[in-house]
Amino acid sequence: MAREKRFKPNAKYRAYYKKKTCRFCEDKSLKIDYKAPEILKEFITERGKILPRRVTGVCSRHQRQLSIAIKKARILALLPFTVHE
Ligand SMILES: [Zn+2]
Repeated sequence: MAREKRFKPNAKYRAYYKKKTCRFCEDKSLKIDYKAPEILKEFITERGKILPRRVTGVCSRHQRQLSIAIKKARILALLPFTVHE
């Protein structure tokens, strides 16, 4: 009886689940630098918004550093605040 209860027929299994790892933790040579917008560009949308952590898989520590770097880069006009046509 208890066994039947544990089995969930409606449970959704993610068939294509791939564990995301933080790129900055994995590669120590990859530095978060506000003077290097090429790296930061990968973490913003084409409209200039910072991508959430659940999309990029970056850890909380590096996401924090990343958001600060992006904001600095925006002030220096290396990255856009918004992109509009
Ligand atoms: Zn990290």
